[in-house]
Amino acid sequence: MPLGAKYAISRDRFLILNPLKQLSACKAYRYPSVPCTTFVHRARSTRMNPEQHSPIIARLLYSNAQWAADVTHSNPNFFPETVKGQEPKVLWIGCADSRVPESVITASKPGDIFTTRNIANQFPIGDISAESVLQYAVNNLGVDHIIVAGHTNCGGAAAALATARKGEPIPNASSLEKWLSPLIKRVIAMDISPDVSDSEALLAVVKENVKMQIENICETDTIRHAKRKLLVHGWVYGLGDGRITDLHLTRVIEGTA
Ligand SMILES: [Zn+2]
Repeated sequence: MPLGAKYAISRDRFLILNPLKQLSACKAYRYPSVPCTTFVHRARSTRMNPEQHSPIIARLLYSNAQWAADVTHSNPNFFPETVKGQEPKVLWIGCADSRVPESVITASKPGDIFTTRNIANQFPIGDISAESVLQYAVNNLGVDHIIVAGHTNCGGAAAALATARKGEPIPNASSLEKWLSPLIKRVIAMDISPDVSDSEALLAVVKENVKMQIENICETDTIRHAKRKLLVHGWVYGLGDGRITDLHLTRVIEGTA
Protein backbone atom coordinates (compact mmCIF):
# COMPACT_ATOMS: atom_id res chain seq x y z
CA MET A 1 0.00 0.00 0.00
CA PRO A 2 1.54 3.32 -0.99
CA LEU A 3 2.35 5.74 1.80
CA GLY A 4 -0.27 8.45 1.95
CA ALA A 5 -2.60 6.68 -0.48
CA LYS A 6 -6.04 8.25 -0.35
CA TYR A 7 -9.35 6.40 -0.63
CA ALA A 8 -12.81 7.95 -0.68
CA ILE A 9 -15.20 6.47 1.87
CA SER A 10 -18.05 8.95 1.44
CA ARG A 11 -18.79 12.19 -0.33
CA ASP A 12 -16.78 14.31 2.06
CA ARG A 13 -14.52 11.88 3.91
CA PHE A 14 -11.29 10.29 2.81
CA LEU A 15 -9.16 7.62 4.31
CA ILE A 16 -5.45 8.31 4.20
CA LEU A 17 -3.26 5.33 4.87
CA ASN A 18 -0.32 6.29 6.99
CA PRO A 19 1.89 3.36 7.98
CA LEU A 20 4.02 5.47 10.33
CA LYS A 21 1.01 6.66 12.28
CA GLN A 22 -0.32 3.12 12.22
CA LEU A 23 2.80 1.86 13.97
CA SER A 24 2.69 4.36 16.81
CA ALA A 25 -1.09 4.18 17.25
CA CYS A 26 -1.05 0.39 17.36
CA LYS A 27 1.61 0.40 20.06
CA ALA A 28 -0.41 2.93 22.04
CA TYR A 29 -3.63 0.92 21.92
CA ARG A 30 -2.08 -2.50 22.27
CA TYR A 31 -4.10 -3.94 19.40
CA PRO A 32 -1.46 -4.56 16.73
CA SER A 33 -3.92 -6.12 14.28
CA VAL A 34 -6.23 -3.12 14.19
CA PRO A 35 -5.48 -0.95 11.17
CA CYS A 36 -5.09 2.63 12.24
CA THR A 37 -5.89 5.44 9.87
CA THR A 38 -6.21 9.15 9.61
CA PHE A 39 -9.58 10.63 8.73
CA VAL A 40 -9.71 13.93 6.90
CA HIS A 41 -13.04 15.73 6.73
CA ARG A 42 -14.19 18.07 4.02
CA ALA A 43 -11.63 16.98 1.48
CA ARG A 44 -11.79 18.83 -1.82
CA SER A 45 -12.36 15.99 -4.21
CA THR A 46 -15.32 13.63 -3.79
CA ARG A 47 -14.84 11.14 -6.59
CA MET A 48 -12.35 8.36 -6.95
CA ASN A 49 -11.24 6.78 -10.15
CA PRO A 50 -12.04 3.04 -10.01
CA GLU A 51 -8.45 2.29 -11.04
CA GLN A 52 -7.32 3.74 -7.71
CA HIS A 53 -8.86 0.85 -5.75
CA SER A 54 -6.42 -1.02 -3.58
CA PRO A 55 -5.71 -4.61 -4.71
CA ILE A 56 -7.80 -5.94 -1.84
CA ILE A 57 -10.87 -3.92 -2.77
CA ALA A 58 -10.38 -4.59 -6.47
CA ARG A 59 -10.25 -8.33 -5.80
CA LEU A 60 -13.48 -8.21 -3.78
CA LEU A 61 -15.31 -6.40 -6.57
CA TYR A 62 -13.90 -8.64 -9.27
CA SER A 63 -14.71 -11.81 -7.33
CA ASN A 64 -18.25 -10.61 -6.69
CA ALA A 65 -18.84 -10.03 -10.39
CA GLN A 66 -17.43 -13.47 -11.15
CA TRP A 67 -19.59 -15.10 -8.47
CA ALA A 68 -22.76 -13.39 -9.68
CA ALA A 69 -22.05 -14.49 -13.24
CA ASP A 70 -21.38 -18.09 -12.13
CA VAL A 71 -24.59 -18.26 -10.08
CA THR A 72 -26.64 -16.83 -12.94
CA HIS A 73 -25.09 -19.33 -15.33
CA SER A 74 -25.82 -22.35 -13.12
CA ASN A 75 -29.21 -21.15 -11.84
CA PRO A 76 -30.78 -18.37 -13.91
CA ASN A 77 -33.73 -18.15 -11.50
CA PHE A 78 -31.63 -17.63 -8.38
CA PHE A 79 -31.54 -13.83 -8.31
CA PRO A 80 -35.10 -13.32 -9.66
CA GLU A 81 -36.32 -15.60 -6.85
CA THR A 82 -34.06 -14.02 -4.23
CA VAL A 83 -35.38 -10.54 -4.90
CA LYS A 84 -38.94 -11.63 -4.06
CA GLY A 85 -38.16 -12.03 -0.36
CA GLN A 86 -36.51 -14.17 2.28
CA GLU A 87 -37.73 -17.11 4.34
CA PRO A 88 -34.70 -18.25 6.34
CA LYS A 89 -35.36 -20.95 8.91
CA VAL A 90 -32.26 -20.18 10.95
CA LEU A 91 -31.06 -17.20 12.95
CA TRP A 92 -27.30 -17.32 13.50
CA ILE A 93 -25.79 -15.32 16.36
CA GLY A 94 -22.07 -15.56 15.81
CA CYS A 95 -18.72 -13.94 16.35
CA ALA A 96 -17.48 -11.22 14.02
CA ASP A 97 -14.26 -13.18 13.55
CA SER A 98 -13.37 -13.30 9.85
CA ARG A 99 -12.59 -17.00 10.12
CA VAL A 100 -16.17 -17.96 11.01
CA PRO A 101 -18.41 -16.91 8.11
CA GLU A 102 -21.65 -18.78 8.80
CA SER A 103 -22.72 -19.33 5.19
CA VAL A 104 -19.31 -20.61 4.12
CA ILE A 105 -18.77 -23.05 6.99
CA THR A 106 -22.27 -24.50 6.64
CA ALA A 107 -22.27 -24.48 2.82
CA SER A 108 -25.40 -22.34 2.84
CA LYS A 109 -26.77 -20.04 0.18
CA PRO A 110 -27.91 -16.41 0.40
CA GLY A 111 -31.37 -16.55 1.93
CA ASP A 112 -30.70 -19.56 4.17
CA ILE A 113 -29.43 -17.87 7.35
CA PHE A 114 -30.49 -14.62 9.00
CA THR A 115 -27.45 -13.35 10.82
CA THR A 116 -26.09 -11.06 13.46
CA ARG A 117 -22.42 -11.19 14.36
CA ASN A 118 -20.40 -9.22 16.84
CA ILE A 119 -17.29 -9.62 18.96
CA ALA A 120 -17.54 -12.86 20.95
CA ASN A 121 -21.10 -13.68 19.76
CA GLN A 122 -22.80 -11.70 22.48
CA PHE A 123 -26.54 -11.36 23.04
CA PRO A 124 -26.59 -8.73 25.79
CA ILE A 125 -29.85 -8.35 27.70
CA GLY A 126 -31.42 -5.03 26.71
CA ASP A 127 -29.26 -4.60 23.61
CA ILE A 128 -31.62 -3.07 21.06
CA SER A 129 -29.66 -4.34 18.08
CA ALA A 130 -29.59 -7.95 19.24
CA GLU A 131 -33.19 -7.95 20.45
CA SER A 132 -34.54 -6.37 17.27
CA VAL A 133 -32.75 -8.98 15.16
CA LEU A 134 -34.31 -11.73 17.28
CA GLN A 135 -37.75 -10.12 17.18
CA TYR A 136 -37.69 -9.70 13.42
CA ALA A 137 -36.32 -13.17 12.81
CA VAL A 138 -38.96 -14.87 14.96
CA ASN A 139 -42.04 -12.69 14.39
CA ASN A 140 -41.55 -11.52 10.82
CA LEU A 141 -39.38 -14.09 9.09
CA GLY A 142 -40.60 -17.13 10.99
CA VAL A 143 -37.28 -18.78 11.81
CA ASP A 144 -37.53 -22.10 13.65
CA HIS A 145 -33.97 -22.34 14.93
CA ILE A 146 -31.74 -19.87 16.76
CA ILE A 147 -28.09 -20.83 16.87
CA VAL A 148 -25.55 -19.25 19.18
CA ALA A 149 -22.22 -20.08 17.59
CA GLY A 150 -19.00 -19.60 19.49
CA HIS A 151 -15.65 -20.72 18.17
CA THR A 152 -12.32 -21.97 19.44
CA ASN A 153 -9.50 -19.45 19.93
CA CYS A 154 -12.02 -16.61 20.14
CA GLY A 155 -10.14 -13.36 20.65
CA GLY A 156 -13.06 -11.77 22.50
CA ALA A 157 -13.33 -14.70 24.89
CA ALA A 158 -9.56 -14.64 25.37
CA ALA A 159 -9.67 -10.93 26.20
CA ALA A 160 -12.45 -11.56 28.72
CA LEU A 161 -10.43 -14.39 30.27
CA ALA A 162 -7.28 -12.29 30.49
CA THR A 163 -9.14 -9.43 32.15
CA ALA A 164 -10.93 -11.77 34.54
CA ARG A 165 -7.64 -13.36 35.56
CA LYS A 166 -6.29 -9.95 36.50
CA GLY A 167 -9.20 -9.82 38.94
CA GLU A 168 -9.57 -6.05 39.02
CA PRO A 169 -12.17 -3.71 37.55
CA ILE A 170 -10.94 -1.76 34.57
CA PRO A 171 -10.65 2.01 34.99
CA ASN A 172 -11.47 3.99 31.85
CA ALA A 173 -12.71 0.89 30.07
CA SER A 174 -12.58 0.96 26.28
CA SER A 175 -15.63 0.23 24.13
CA LEU A 176 -14.37 -3.31 23.69
CA GLU A 177 -13.95 -3.82 27.42
CA LYS A 178 -17.41 -2.42 28.10
CA TRP A 179 -18.86 -4.73 25.45
CA LEU A 180 -17.20 -7.74 27.07
CA SER A 181 -17.95 -6.73 30.67
CA PRO A 182 -20.92 -9.17 31.15
CA LEU A 183 -18.72 -11.99 29.91
CA ILE A 184 -15.84 -10.85 32.11
CA LYS A 185 -18.15 -11.01 35.14
CA ARG A 186 -19.27 -14.47 34.12
CA VAL A 187 -15.69 -15.64 33.74
CA ILE A 188 -14.83 -14.28 37.19
CA ALA A 189 -17.80 -16.24 38.57
CA MET A 190 -16.46 -19.41 36.90
CA ASP A 191 -13.51 -19.16 39.31
CA ILE A 192 -11.18 -21.06 37.00
CA SER A 193 -8.21 -22.50 38.86
CA PRO A 194 -4.85 -20.87 38.06
CA ASP A 195 -3.61 -24.42 37.48
CA VAL A 196 -5.80 -24.78 34.40
CA SER A 197 -3.85 -24.09 31.21
CA ASP A 198 -4.70 -21.05 29.12
CA SER A 199 -5.97 -23.19 26.23
CA GLU A 200 -8.21 -25.31 28.47
CA ALA A 201 -9.49 -22.22 30.26
CA LEU A 202 -10.23 -20.47 26.99
CA LEU A 203 -12.26 -23.39 25.65
CA ALA A 204 -14.22 -23.47 28.91
CA VAL A 205 -14.91 -19.74 28.56
CA VAL A 206 -16.01 -20.16 24.93
CA LYS A 207 -18.51 -22.84 26.00
CA GLU A 208 -19.72 -20.90 29.03
CA ASN A 209 -20.15 -17.84 26.83
CA VAL A 210 -22.45 -19.76 24.48
CA LYS A 211 -24.44 -21.00 27.46
CA MET A 212 -24.79 -17.45 28.82
CA GLN A 213 -26.05 -16.07 25.51
CA ILE A 214 -28.67 -18.84 25.28
CA GLU A 215 -29.86 -17.88 28.76
CA ASN A 216 -30.07 -14.22 27.70
CA ILE A 217 -32.01 -15.08 24.54
CA CYS A 218 -34.50 -17.14 26.52
CA GLU A 219 -35.13 -14.15 28.83
CA THR A 220 -36.30 -11.87 26.01
CA ASP A 221 -39.95 -10.97 25.47
CA THR A 222 -39.71 -12.40 21.97
CA ILE A 223 -38.93 -15.87 23.29
CA ARG A 224 -41.07 -15.76 26.43
CA HIS A 225 -44.11 -14.76 24.38
CA ALA A 226 -43.33 -16.87 21.32
CA LYS A 227 -46.44 -18.40 19.82
CA ARG A 228 -44.62 -21.09 17.84
CA LYS A 229 -42.19 -23.83 18.77
CA LEU A 230 -38.59 -22.63 18.63
CA LEU A 231 -35.28 -24.29 19.30
CA VAL A 232 -32.26 -22.42 20.64
CA HIS A 233 -28.99 -24.23 20.00
CA GLY A 234 -25.45 -23.80 21.29
CA TRP A 235 -22.55 -24.63 18.98
CA VAL A 236 -18.80 -24.20 18.89
CA TYR A 237 -16.90 -24.06 15.62
CA GLY A 238 -13.37 -25.46 15.64
CA LEU A 239 -10.93 -23.24 13.79
CA GLY A 240 -8.42 -26.08 13.67
CA ASP A 241 -10.55 -28.59 11.78
CA GLY A 242 -13.56 -26.65 10.48
CA ARG A 243 -15.99 -28.86 12.40
CA ILE A 244 -18.96 -27.68 14.43
CA THR A 245 -19.61 -29.24 17.84
CA ASP A 246 -23.14 -29.24 19.24
CA LEU A 247 -22.82 -28.45 22.96
CA HIS A 248 -26.19 -30.15 23.63
CA LEU A 249 -27.54 -27.05 25.34
CA THR A 250 -30.61 -26.92 23.11
CA ARG A 251 -33.61 -25.22 24.69
CA VAL A 252 -37.02 -26.11 23.30
CA ILE A 253 -39.54 -23.29 23.43
CA GLU A 254 -42.98 -24.83 23.03
CA GLY A 255 -44.80 -21.57 22.24
CA THR A 256 -48.05 -20.25 23.67
CA ALA A 257 -50.38 -20.93 20.74
ZN1 LIG B 1 -14.54 -14.78 18.28
